[in-house]
Amino acid sequence: MAIPLLQKARIGAYVVRQQLAGRRRYPLVLMLEPLFRCNLACAGCGKIDYPDEILKQRLSVDECLAAVDECGAPVVSIAGGEPLLHKEIDAIVDGIVARRKFVYLCTNALVMQKRLALFKPSPYFVWSVHLDGDREMHDRSVCEEGVYDRAVAAIRTAKERGFRVNINCTLFNDADPERVARFFDSASGLGVDGITVSPGYAYERAPDQAHFLTRERTKRLFRDIFSRGRGARAWSFSQSGLFLDFLAGNREYRCTPWGNPTRNVFGWQRPCYLLGEGYARSFRELMEETDWDSYGTGNYEKCADCMVHSGYEATAVQDAVRHPLRALSVGLRGVRTKGSMAPEIRLTHQRPAQYVFSRHVEQKLAEIRVGQTGTESSTSA
Ligand code: SF4
Repeated sequence: MAIPLLQKARIGAYVVRQQLAGRRRYPLVLMLEPLFRCNLACAGCGKIDYPDEILKQRLSVDECLAAVDECGAPVVSIAGGEPLLHKEIDAIVDGIVARRKFVYLCTNALVMQKRLALFKPSPYFVWSVHLDGDREMHDRSVCEEGVYDRAVAAIRTAKERGFRVNINCTLFNDADPERVARFFDSASGLGVDGITVSPGYAYERAPDQAHFLTRERTKRLFRDIFSRGRGARAWSFSQSGLFLDFLAGNREYRCTPWGNPTRNVFGWQRPCYLLGEGYARSFRELMEETDWDSYGTGNYEKCADCMVHSGYEATAVQDAVRHPLRALSVGLRGVRTKGSMAPEIRLTHQRPAQYVFSRHVEQKLAEIRVGQTGTESSTSA
């Protein structure tokens, strides 16, 4: 089972508590980026071209744990950059597990074998290994040969040592449905506990802009993949069935960017994990002072093609808690891969894109150079 009962029960109870308390917006998964430094330079990544002074920045253990406490989400996904390059990553993970939060440690696995001994298996701890397909697909996606084989070797070792291990897979417009389906088969054969899948978001800074998916192509791609696996029931996804149903074009969901708030070396990122349009000094400021209605598909040009899990999975989870029979039906029958699709959100009133990346980078560089932290948070490596 991709998501153990303990985890499902804890998250379900958390969502019900939020709804009983009448909270309109609440976080489900904290996206924690303790650094941007990486040991790969993937073509579809929008995070690795910061100036060196910013790449040297790290969130300290205390800053990471303060973010976890401030946010209160039941799940923490540690991303980056490559989190295993942070010298105190084990202390960060231990501190989150001690709080009985579920931690997903995202990694490209290049140094995972060497670092395995720093971690202990726990129901609260999951390795989330980046694999964008079979050997050829993945090595092309990360622009380096041999990465797939190292990741697979690390997965095998981690499984032998009793860890929970997922893979996270991002698909682009050159994905071949048959090949992706066979890759999911082989991942299941490796013994991974779950698969997280998402269409690639069109990062404006990514070196390769030619392979991002439109919403129309995303839906057709996922229908074509899921139809090869009994409506996705052939594989163990670490995601809600309703989110998979959304990817296949069967749900008209609105994005809930506050469901996956992001804390990184700049501060609390507005509005979401994918877009850095501004930064708040506290989680409270992020939630209360962000103009949420100006983001999301239909509201903002940069959101037009987004169907990414960090924007829409929280919407699906909330829908599943409100309509358990709907979720059960998808679980039993599988994702529908034929017939009409749900109506698409109209883009006629979306506001035009703003390009603010350079301004934030310049501000951060100025703060670093005058020896200020700026976000009361960032510390040098
Ligand atoms: S649709 Fe939502 S998750 Fe996607 S980029 Fe826009 S705000 Fe972020």
